[in-house]
Amino acid sequence: VTATLIDGRAMAARLRTSLRCRVDVLARRGIVPHLAFVMLGDSGPARVYASRIEKLAAPLGIQVSRRELPGDVRFSMLEREVGALNADSAVDGILVQMPLPEHLVETHLSSIIEQRKDVDGITIQNAGRLYLGLPGHPPSTAAAILHILTEGNVDIAGRHAVVVGRSTIVGHPIAELLLNRDATVTITHRQTRDLEAATRLADILVVAAGVPGLITPRMISPGVVIIDAGITVSDSGVVGDVDVACWDLASLVTPVPGGVGPVTNAVLLRGVVESAEHRSE
Ligand code: NAD
Repeated sequence: VTATLIDGRAMAARLRTSLRCRVDVLARRGIVPHLAFVMLGDSGPARVYASRIEKLAAPLGIQVSRRELPGDVRFSMLEREVGALNADSAVDGILVQMPLPEHLVETHLSSIIEQRKDVDGITIQNAGRLYLGLPGHPPSTAAAILHILTEGNVDIAGRHAVVVGRSTIVGHPIAELLLNRDATVTITHRQTRDLEAATRLADILVVAAGVPGLITPRMISPGVVIIDAGITVSDSGVVGDVDVACWDLASLVTPVPGGVGPVTNAVLLRGVVESAEHRSE
């Protein structure tokens, strides 16, 4: 392998250490950052995720709490619960379990969480801020990818960034973040006719399709920086979207696992600390 592998776990640990200092400063103002999970029914993966975030938050002095609602909850009840968390000035972040149960429409949710507390950037307010290049909370995975590029000293301005995937949680927001940093951005997706023609032009290639092995060596140019956000659980463990044979051509790559994932969790906690720093009292 000739590319430099980015150690996402180490990068996440450094980010969490820097948060520890910010939490200490807040403690002197009597503020304990607080992230509230809203759980809907009994979902195994959602519980595993919440427990993981709790474990990472505890040593930093970030409080995490859970509200439990039934899986068949009516939207009005969810709205009341989120409203109470919005009104509670001691809450800094609100994460409602995703994906929502089928009977709840996600677009409704995207207007009820207060902008400051929307630490995963799902609201229209934060999407608008991202679009306008204003400070806000972008979705954590997209923010994590930008953090990795910045920490890896990757030049963004003027470079050609190609994004594979256009979801509202990864592909589209990272494309906006890169555009805000003056990259020339191409967004590709399932309907793209000639994916290879686009990816070959990339100086920075961000892949978030959820298709293992989608990116092969013939699709990239030597020296490309590759960020692989894909996560698929296969028989051989967790794999990304990029064929590891690409590592011999790239200059910098994120492995899966141990790349974007751990940084995403740390960036989420950074959002909670940032929000606590902006409490109005
Ligand atoms: P999604 O299914 O919502 O979107 C996938 C996108 O990829 C779509 O825009 C689709 O058009 C595009 N796509 C699919 N197949 C393609 C192909 N053959 N060619 C070109 N484009 C194609 O998925 P998502 O929620 O954005 O997640 C994408 C991947 O990122 C998944 O593997 C997911 O598990 C992972 N993910 C990782 C993190 C993290 O923290 N690392 C967070 C969220 C999602």
